[in-house]
Amino acid sequence: MTGFKFQELKQLNHIIERLGDNAQVDVLAKVQYKHHEFPIHSVTLGSKDPKAPVLAFFGGVHGLEKIGSEVILSYMETISHLLDWDEELHTRLSKSRLIFVPIVNPVGVYLGTRCNGNGVDLMRNSPVEAIGPTKFYSGQNYSHHLPWYRGDVSNMEKESSVICNLVREQLFKSPYSIALDLHSGFGLKDRLWFPYASRRDSYPYIAETLALKELFDRCYQHHIYKIEPMCLEYLISGDLWDYLIDEFVEQPTANEGLFLPLTLEMGSWLWLRKNPSHLFSRHGLFHPLLPHRQQRVFRRHFLLFDFLHRSLINPQPWAQLAAHQKSDYTKKAEDVWYN
Ligand SMILES: [Zn+2]
Repeated sequence: MTGFKFQELKQLNHIIERLGDNAQVDVLAKVQYKHHEFPIHSVTLGSKDPKAPVLAFFGGVHGLEKIGSEVILSYMETISHLLDWDEELHTRLSKSRLIFVPIVNPVGVYLGTRCNGNGVDLMRNSPVEAIGPTKFYSGQNYSHHLPWYRGDVSNMEKESSVICNLVREQLFKSPYSIALDLHSGFGLKDRLWFPYASRRDSYPYIAETLALKELFDRCYQHHIYKIEPMCLEYLISGDLWDYLIDEFVEQPTANEGLFLPLTLEMGSWLWLRKNPSHLFSRHGLFHPLLPHRQQRVFRRHFLLFDFLHRSLINPQPWAQLAAHQKSDYTKKAEDVWYN
């Protein structure tokens, strides 16, 4: 990749160097685009015990929304410095694992496009079909020249496949795991979405999800997130997380573990409201253009990341519910989100 101006990849390589022996670095795949190969890196920190809880970060699935990649890189940078002196973080990592895939769609991030190099929208690329009213952005099979193209869902794109495989290998086998996928562009608020994206049904871990939300609400009363199932906002086909959660619950060992995929949708309309002229720039819709606004976005989410990490190490109040708690939370969740 010499001779390339690929800022995010350069930053990632620098962080990998800083992390040194603290990290295990893997190239999950190399994506060919024109005459170049683009690597998809994963960086793993902490316990190698397959039974350790896992928090995994994914960014840049939609290349245009590269703020997701940048927020993860910024968090990795912070962690690389904390590891120099923070014994508490080392202790936490001895009991858990953090996995970072900050640039899932390297060609898209490099080109500044939503889709990958084949014109496929990776978050429409799984075989899951939406049930209910859909719109044009729910995914289409007409042409890769049009947005939201789903590609061949029976033979998913390389980027989609490596993410699914990593989740199966690392998260499905862990008793408690959370995948956090960072996007931007929808609405004024920062949203934390959980499944389903394809249908207006409650999903199997709705009780634990509500318990986790209430724990977060209690501990951080002024947090900024709107937490809801994605289907409340819109329905899509081909969502990778719906596909993975459906697969997870089909496993014979599913009730021994909990897999919670979350999407952080950073509300970029907030940045636009303050600088409406950025609407006319290519990145403006999905990316804060002013440096001070970018920095604010970087800082904004670290508290959530730390909370999720600590909640996985301490699952008692939310992921180890007694039967009566589970049924109470389920009833309440139905009222809050689905009725
Ligand atoms: Zn997105």
